[in-house]
Amino acid sequence: MRWGLAGASEIAATSIIQGIRAQAGSRVVAVHSRSAQRGADYARRHGIEHSYDSLAGLLDHPGIDAVYVSTTNDRHAAEAIAALRAGKHVLCEKPLALELADAEAMVATAAAAGVVLATNHGRRNDPAVRAARDLISAGTLGTPLAAHTSAAFLLPEQLRTWRLSGAAGGGAALDLLVHDADTLRFVLADEIVSVQAATPSRGEEDGDRSEEVIAGTLSMARGPVASFLCSFATPHGGSNLDVFGESAALRASRAPGRPSTLVLRTTAGEEPVLLPDAPPIGVATIAAFEAALRGHGRPTADGEDGVASLAVALAARESARTGVRVPLPAAQGTGRPASS
Ligand code: NDP
Repeated sequence: MRWGLAGASEIAATSIIQGIRAQAGSRVVAVHSRSAQRGADYARRHGIEHSYDSLAGLLDHPGIDAVYVSTTNDRHAAEAIAALRAGKHVLCEKPLALELADAEAMVATAAAAGVVLATNHGRRNDPAVRAARDLISAGTLGTPLAAHTSAAFLLPEQLRTWRLSGAAGGGAALDLLVHDADTLRFVLADEIVSVQAATPSRGEEDGDRSEEVIAGTLSMARGPVASFLCSFATPHGGSNLDVFGESAALRASRAPGRPSTLVLRTTAGEEPVLLPDAPPIGVATIAAFEAALRGHGRPTADGEDGVASLAVALAARESARTGVRVPLPAAQGTGRPASS
């Protein structure tokens, strides 16, 4: 498989290039950056043969099969659609787009072109998240009634750039809540049907600044409720998923640079769940994507999963703005079970 990178990004450098190179016969052949200089430096640093300062140049490069889109969020939809129209399979970063219609257009374009579109909700390949899903589906918790997710930390100074810009598609909802919404859909094998959210008022909003903190509640189609906290502004928040069932509860936790953990709580007490050795998330995500192209299984999260998580983030923002609970398209019966 020959890959092109749309975006000379940090996430490609720290996760996806390794993921591609871990697959037998796969390689990264070219990168696109708007800046010829940055693209050339990036290509040199990461051992990539070609760099282009136009997306068209990357897409015209002979023999590219798949494109990984990891530019800033505002660029995902247009770049992914261009790649899909050029007949490339696309793994796109989250959020797929800034507007639902654009994300839906991406899914439709992939279907029309007969190529695969996947969303990088790689957290599904976190062994703690997978084990949580397995325990829940095996009935270990009894009926799941409630859940809580938190993705709350202090965004380091060097990352306080486009991630907080409305125009670039930054903010806690589009950056963080999309992941947690997807993880809930995946772990509970259920759809989110409505959202109510709020943001703290700190009196420092300006025109282009996105929310740094958003919290709220979600209702799931089969009954459970969930609360969430997504924050770029609270250094002591942590990254946890709690699921509470009739007979037991579990907590999956992540911390930078450390393996994830999963703890099961029953009347007998707390018990750590032994997690299998697993490849790095980027390696597992690329393996699943490439297998899907060969007709084996599905990508870790497909385009429709990306549409669903984006819908939740946009609904949360709307709810925070208007103060009312926002129903999601799934509530009108257009949802589908979360893919595995
Ligand atoms: P980066 O800030 O590293 O890169 C994003 C874009 O910004 C690049 O494509 C590049 O575009 C431009 N850029 C990079 N460096 C510079 C620079 N020094 N000066 C000016 N522009 C620069 O972003 P991330 O890697 O953090 O995130 C990229 C995407 O991946 C986002 O959509 C994000 O939401 C997603 N992401 C997903 C994660 C996941 O778990 N799935 C985790 C982290 C991020 P160009 O060179 O064309 O100007």
